[in-house]
Amino acid sequence: MAAATDYHLLVPTRSNHFNTCFYCGCIAAKHDYAPPQQYLEFYLATREASEFLKIPVCNECHELVKPCKAGTLDERHKFAKTKLAKKYAKALSIYDMWTVDELAALDFSLRHSIEAGLKLGAETTERLNFFGFDYEAGGISQQVHDSTPLQFDVFGECFDSFREALDFASKAYRIPKNALKEAFADNGNSFEQAIQAIHQQVAEKEFNQQLKQQCAAFAKQHKQAVIFVHKQVERYLSENADMTITEALQHLYDTRVKPAAARR
Ligand SMILES: [Zn+2]
Repeated sequence: MAAATDYHLLVPTRSNHFNTCFYCGCIAAKHDYAPPQQYLEFYLATREASEFLKIPVCNECHELVKPCKAGTLDERHKFAKTKLAKKYAKALSIYDMWTVDELAALDFSLRHSIEAGLKLGAETTERLNFFGFDYEAGGISQQVHDSTPLQFDVFGECFDSFREALDFASKAYRIPKNALKEAFADNGNSFEQAIQAIHQQVAEKEFNQQLKQQCAAFAKQHKQAVIFVHKQVERYLSENADMTITEALQHLYDTRVKPAAARR
């Protein structure tokens, strides 16, 4: 059986981090081990990457990180965050979607549950943004560098949280938050690309509606088959990028419909 002395206790360099969970910043109550104690012999025998650390963590992170077999502090920290984000996914999504000033318009029971989600979502966001702290272990100091602070850009307007950027972009560009959040994920995590993609979709939809309506009206007026009119107009438009639907219909009339009528 491996001895606890094979591990170095991770000790915060600054006193304000004493008794703090390294993974989420809550109050520490237990220790996590990198690598897990039951795999210590394996890590010692194989020299797989591990720092052999005994890490102060909170009860919840201790529980969440249990299935993780990784040997390094960084891997275990990431694992804990992924699990935390998954556990509170619903609250995080409420936190992204709602603002406090929208609560007033809701009825009591919905307001109550959204309020709770907002609070839990804010807490979880803070825990997920916790990057650990400088520490000493086995006589060696380690500095933990914060990741580059998050920044979200919406056509030149900068925000330091996804939530604020989403709220701004949704109001400024009149796109529902849900649709915008989805498009953001589908378009390289970029608000600009997401907004452009949505606007393009809307423009295409409007164009197709116009095409359908105008072709149907033309077909009726000149007693032509709708499918014929539609196909011809699409062909003209694909051959000439500057042509409008009206011009294409006029072209169809001049070159096909009128000459045919004259022959009769
Ligand atoms: Zn924790």
